[in-house]
Amino acid sequence: MTKDTVFKGTAVVPGVSYAEAVWIRPRPQLPQAGAVVAESEREAEFERFLKAADTVADRLTERSNAAVGAASEVLAATAGMVRDRGWRKAVKKGITGGHPADYAIVTATTKFITQFEAVGGVMAERVTDLRDIRDRVIAELRGEEEPGLPQVTGEVVLFADDLSPADTAALDTTRFTALVTELGGPTSHTAIIARQLNVPCIVAAGEKIKSIQPGEMVMVDGALGTITLNADPEVAKTAVSESKLMAARVAQWRGPGKTKDGHPVQLLANVQDGNAARAANASEAEGIGLFRTEICFLSATTEPSVEEQAAVYRKVLEAFPESKVVVRSLDAGSDKPVAFANMADEMNPALGVRGLRVARANEPLLTRQLDAIALAVKESNRSEDAPIWVMAPMVATAREAQWFAGLCEERGLIAGAMIEVPAAALMADKIMPHLSFVSIGTNDLTQYTMAADRMSPQLAYLTDPWQPAVLRLIAHTCKEGERFDTAVGVCGEAAADPLLACVLTGLGVKSLSAASAAIAGVGAQLAAVDLETCKQAAEAALNSEGATEARAAVREIIQPK
Ligand code: PEP
Ligand code: MG
Repeated sequence: MTKDTVFKGTAVVPGVSYAEAVWIRPRPQLPQAGAVVAESEREAEFERFLKAADTVADRLTERSNAAVGAASEVLAATAGMVRDRGWRKAVKKGITGGHPADYAIVTATTKFITQFEAVGGVMAERVTDLRDIRDRVIAELRGEEEPGLPQVTGEVVLFADDLSPADTAALDTTRFTALVTELGGPTSHTAIIARQLNVPCIVAAGEKIKSIQPGEMVMVDGALGTITLNADPEVAKTAVSESKLMAARVAQWRGPGKTKDGHPVQLLANVQDGNAARAANASEAEGIGLFRTEICFLSATTEPSVEEQAAVYRKVLEAFPESKVVVRSLDAGSDKPVAFANMADEMNPALGVRGLRVARANEPLLTRQLDAIALAVKESNRSEDAPIWVMAPMVATAREAQWFAGLCEERGLIAGAMIEVPAAALMADKIMPHLSFVSIGTNDLTQYTMAADRMSPQLAYLTDPWQPAVLRLIAHTCKEGERFDTAVGVCGEAAADPLLACVLTGLGVKSLSAASAAIAGVGAQLAAVDLETCKQAAEAALNSEGATEARAAVREIIQPK
């Protein structure tokens, strides 16, 4: 029998699939410079472009209407980009200058790509969307098949270099039973939508997966991050049915979160707006553990007034009128540029003026936001017993914590801080006395502990919250939390990993906040272990040599449920 071959990527959504590989349909060949359209034909050429662009936009809108939630929003946003007046104007300029429509599309899009890349962060991530609309409109102009998802009849595993948000959002998960991408990261759009669709997903699997041929049978394990060729069909089929059983157990799980022996672990949701908060309320979430306020304002060019901000915050507060809501003050900067926060151009924005640091130079920006939160609390119809906690991102020193807490207290708000800078974890004993709670942001804590950019696909092995160095900082924070009677939660992606959730519980974390789609998986896993086992798992992970060893050691102690 042929020996199996295993490729490894970054595990994003758990679940096992065994099916034929298909690759996403290729992008069109891009035109070269040179051809010139006669002046008399330029108007017609522009009309031809408009017709193709409208067809693509209408098709995306149709798909958006047929989808729900984040998928629908992503498709609507992509359709909006095809209708964007600035982009169309840039194409028109090219055609008026004599370029054929396809070449004018390329030059106009390249201009926008350069601008977005210069801004960096979330804007740079939108570059995939821009290339996607460019390719769709060019294919339409030429009468070629729309690039992207192939038509399939049976179950398949979808392979791609990277998936555009539009492709991911349009996925029929009864056919596309797993996703594997060569590029991307655990926080990319593909990953976010795959979590929502709950389809097994592996990203950053690397160039080596290009050797996988269409039609080859592959086994994908979204929890282990493995893609196996030549797997024993019997073994693969057993793994698929076990994973389906596990999924059924997860679907049956009901909160609140607790271990098998009744140790409570509050399970909360991460949200970015009222829609996400309402979706979270439909899940087993016990409240909101992270409201990322900056996401509400990524496209705002001027600062919304206190009243306008309050109206946005109210929508989230009112989705959970009886439960705890943790609001994070603006985490502008780095990968989340907020135009009105006026950040300087920096060589190294992840290590620059971001999060609370922006407010140090612009305190009124923070106090207006705190006023808006206080106003939203006052105006929203919430139970007296439902606390609103407010926390600052990127706190590094006790003095920063004290200053933030002072501003919150002046407004009657309960103050906390994110622990996402290693210095804050190490100085927890000096920071905690100023605060009522802390929440560990494992995404940034991992990035800064491992000195590895969280967006880099090559460094995905380092930006892994299973790294014992990160776990040791969490352990230290929890120990100090006990000593100072300060609640310690986790709100990074680590909280979405069921096995790691057991480790975090064993370390002493009291609440876990994750995407609402991940909550049931975490809850079902916690319900299957007792606290003592979580403590043993935590000890094993802390004493491992690396992230892979930590995972393996914990799997020896806890069988995934
Ligand atoms: C984190 O860093 O873990 C976190 C929750 O914040 P964000 O991902 O928004 O930076
Ligand atoms: Mg962070």
